[in-house]
Amino acid sequence: MAGPTAASGSPPGEHVPVTPAWTCGTCGDEWPCATKRDLLLSEYRVDRASLSVYLGSCLAAATADLAAAPVRPLRERFIGWLPRGPVTS
Ligand SMILES: [Zn+2]
Repeated sequence: MAGPTAASGSPPGEHVPVTPAWTCGTCGDEWPCATKRDLLLSEYRVDRASLSVYLGSCLAAATADLAAAPVRPLRERFIGWLPRGPVTS
């Protein structure tokens, strides 16, 4: 099982997180950046539960890496953007 930081081997343009700062390796925004969120939503469109698990593992890793950062904004940043409710698309 690949961890959230398994970035090696990923082609450029994948908007993978750069740890321990958790910035986007492609556009430099805080990860997950807006582009990555769109990519994740389409990648996990039929398996939203797995996306939540994946982002949860990222959040756990980021919380450890960014020990000085408050937890609540981190949780909002990693998980709070996920659409709630049933998939309508
Ligand atoms: Zn990006």
